[in-house]
Amino acid sequence: MGEPAPVRLVFTDLDATLLDRETYLWDEAAPALAACRERGIPVILVSSKTRAEMEVVSRNLGLSEHPFVTENGGGVVFPLAGPLAPPPEARQERDVFVLSQGTPYPELVRALNAIRGELGLSITGFSDLTPAQLAGMTGLSEAEAGLAAQRNFDEPFFAISPVDLAAFTRQSVRLGLAVTPGGRFSHLHGQNDKGRAVGRLLSLYARLGPVVSMALGDADNDLPMLQAVDFPVWLGDPGRAPDLPGLSTPPHPGPRGWNLAVSSFLLQTDPRVSGWT
Ligand SMILES: [Mg+2]
Repeated sequence: MGEPAPVRLVFTDLDATLLDRETYLWDEAAPALAACRERGIPVILVSSKTRAEMEVVSRNLGLSEHPFVTENGGGVVFPLAGPLAPPPEARQERDVFVLSQGTPYPELVRALNAIRGELGLSITGFSDLTPAQLAGMTGLSEAEAGLAAQRNFDEPFFAISPVDLAAFTRQSVRLGLAVTPGGRFSHLHGQNDKGRAVGRLLSLYARLGPVVSMALGDADNDLPMLQAVDFPVWLGDPGRAPDLPGLSTPPHPGPRGWNLAVSSFLLQTDPRVSGWT
């Protein structure tokens, strides 16, 4: 009788969203995380971090049975055994399946070298550095820098002048690539973003039943993901909140705001109470 209960999904950025901006802790989000786990609701991590970095975080958060999205949508990583079957084009790599949505890393490094040479720019990419040098330049430990250096779909490079960045971006676009400017680093990558990867996952979950989705983020690279879901949540600077229908902006940033927003999503979409369809 009646409609099947909807499949509820929570997509979330990591830094300054589920993880505290300064401490990288998520204690304040623990109650809502536990509530999702009890209800079998997937919490899907969507980050600019590499697979090697995210495997550690996913395990620590107890989310290893769910897929996660790496390198700003470049890759979608599925566990070998989980409630969601990976699509047939995902390739098995050791103990996971990886769905590639971006441009392979060696191509990005070749493009960076070519453009740098052509324009005579002095640009330092992650691929130019050893983990020890990267650690020295980022403040990461050498072990963390080693994980951050295991890249598949995105080459970060250290900030250059706005004029040089504009020239670099023009050449990249000519090669079919894209540049996302950032504070300390900018990123060279293919035609991937967080929204495309989330869209792909939404269509895979839709095979299991009607889907109700939420996403939480704090920065520009989260916007395509926020646009892709039913319940977008902004945890960034309130003055920079995007103009999106239905956007909610909790009164606290980071994991504390995350806890509030996810708790309210669980309540609002609880099929026993709300009749939400
Ligand atoms: Mg963030």
